[in-house]
Order: sequence, then C-alpha cells, then structure tokens
Amino acid sequence: MSRDFEAPGSDHAEMVRRLIRTHGPISLSRFMGESNARYYAGKDPLGAGGDFVTAPEVSQMFGELIGLWLADMWIAAGRPQPVHYVELGPGRGTLAKDALRSAKRYGLEPSVHLVEGSPVLRDIQQAALGPVNFHDDLTSVPADGPLLLVANEFFDALPIRQLVRSADGWRERMVGLNEERLVFVAGDQPMDAAVPPDWREATQGTLIETCPAAAAIMQEIAARLSAQGGAALVIDYGHTELRGGSTLQAVREHRKVDPLAAPGAADLTAYVDFETLARIARAHDVRWLGTVSQGQWLTELGIDMRAEGLARLAPEYAERLQQDKRRLVADDQMGLIFKVMGLAGPRWPGGPGFA
Ligand code: SAH
Repeated sequence: MSRDFEAPGSDHAEMVRRLIRTHGPISLSRFMGESNARYYAGKDPLGAGGDFVTAPEVSQMFGELIGLWLADMWIAAGRPQPVHYVELGPGRGTLAKDALRSAKRYGLEPSVHLVEGSPVLRDIQQAALGPVNFHDDLTSVPADGPLLLVANEFFDALPIRQLVRSADGWRERMVGLNEERLVFVAGDQPMDAAVPPDWREATQGTLIETCPAAAAIMQEIAARLSAQGGAALVIDYGHTELRGGSTLQAVREHRKVDPLAAPGAADLTAYVDFETLARIARAHDVRWLGTVSQGQWLTELGIDMRAEGLARLAPEYAERLQQDKRRLVADDQMGLIFKVMGLAGPRWPGGPGFA
C-alpha cells in the first residue's frame, strides 16, 4: 500500500481514484480545483509549522507598506466615503491586520470584506481582525463605494488548465490512472481552438497553461474598479509575459512534492500569467499602473527606511529585520519571481512603486 493511503487527505485521494475508475480521466483543472478546496478547507497551511510561508508571514513590513500605498491612493483620490477594503484569500489575516493598522494612521478606516473559501481560515481571520464581512466570491462585495483590493498568493492557487501539443494537435492534459497510481494522460478531444493563434503550430511536446478562473476574477475586479473606482494590488509569483512549460507545483512541509502524489494534502499552485491579467484589465475602463518585481516595488515604497525605523524602536531585532527584508526583496529570494500588479479606477491617480 502506498504512503498516500495514510496521509491526511487520503480519503480525497481515494475519491479521485474512484472518480477516474468510473468516469475516465479528469482535467487537471478539476483535479487542482477539488484538491485545493479540500486542502484549504481542512487546515491552516501557513507558517513555519505548516506547509509554506508567505510574505506577510515573513514580516509586518510587507502589509504595512501595502496599507501605506492604499492610504496614499485614497488620499490622492480625495478621501471618498464609504470605502471598502477587500482581500482575496487572506490566509491568517496577517496582511490585512498590518495594512489596516498602517492605513489608520492616515485616516483610512475602510469596512473590511474578506473573500475566503476555507472555514478554518475564516475563524483565524476573524480572531485576528475582529468583526469582518466574509464572502464566497466578489459578487456580494458592496457596490456603493470604491474598493481597495489586495490579493497576495491567491491567484496562484486557482485551478489551471494545461494544453499539450501532441502528434495529432493540441490536447488537454488530464489526470488518469495507471493501476492505482495517478498519472498525466492526454485527453482525446482536439483542443486547438483553445490555444492562442501564435502557439498553434508549436512543436510536439509544447505545453501551455491557462487559468480560466483567474481570467474570470480579473474581469470582475476590473469591472468593479471601472464602475466604483478604487485600486487593486495583485501580488504573486509569475512572469510578466506568457511562456511555455508546466509551472504546476505541489508543496508540503516546505518541500516540493509530486503534484499527483497526495491530492488534498499538498498545496497546488502555478505561476500567475500577469500578461493575460493585464490584458483583461486593460480591456476595461481602468488604469493599469504596471507590473513590477516585488523587490523593486517594496524598495520604491521605502522598505529600507521602514526597516531602519523599526530597528530604532527595537535594536535587538535589527539583524532579524535586515534578514526579513532581504527575504522579501532580494533577487535570489522573493524579490524577483514575485510580481506586483497595480490597477486603479478611471478617475483615480497613479500610485507609487510603478515608475
Ligand atoms: N494571502 C495569504 C494566504 C495565501 S494562501 C497570505 O499571503 O498569507 C491562499 C489563500 O487563498 C487561502 O486563504 C485560501 O483559503 C484562499 N483560497 C484559495 N482558493 C480560493 C478560492 N477559490 N476561493 C476563495 N479563497 C480561496
């Protein structure tokens, strides 16, 4: 018997196998969507004792600078009221807590709306932030004022589709069974129509990814900013232009594992395609402020000064603050692979960090 059977989430693995045994291979997108829903529903995956560490969990400076950016935008827009803070996939609520604390110093005290699917994480967010409004998706978020929206490491968890160029044209990459083991197989339906024209004639073996859920959510964010005003920051790891190749990865206890080995027990993510997100946003009446590296953005917002300021308050943490800052901004850490994309409503100003 394989180890998966004892692992947390193993009922889910058996459910997936049963589904495939009965109905045949399922799309990677369905596999990833259901596995992640199961994964996040059951646990708090964040932090040293969990499976992975995110930027707000590295340092309070991350959320504080985001709060500062939002406050700056809001002040430049003439301090509109009401105003709503919206966060997608807030994890432990750490980013929101740090951002709202720093925004408050500038008079910005928005109502708080969290889009969160996991009941376990909702409880943790509520404990961190006090009374907040929870939403299953953006549709129920208020429409009566500008939105200040943040999404950190949210888009990377949305289910992707992979398309592979086979000898007979493009096919969807599916998850099938080889005896009891989950394996990738090519779907039997032609998928050429789903491939961008430039890629249609690519050589055999070429693989591209799309994320229909990310596209749909970006569409909704752009439509809201266009109608209500506000600003948005999308922060995630990914590229600024579409590339070939699989970026699917699974992480468990801070290690990369086989994405098919333990469905529901590992965090499945893929690189965010910022080129497509920017294209969708720009098709609406919103301002695309730019997509820059996290290192550049945090540096332009003054993370060096913030680290020095905190070190003056607590000299015993000076070295730790430098280490944490390095982790967020250095090219060989999170600084280069993570990107920050900024958007603003049509009559809103441009924000700092996107020069
Ligand atoms: N932003 C946090 C957490 C990142 S982990 C941080 O930076 O620390 C991903 C978060 O997105 C979790 O809160 C997870 O529960 C949530 N999430 C993932 N997919 C989701 C979906 N489809 N709908 C709502 N929330 C989702």
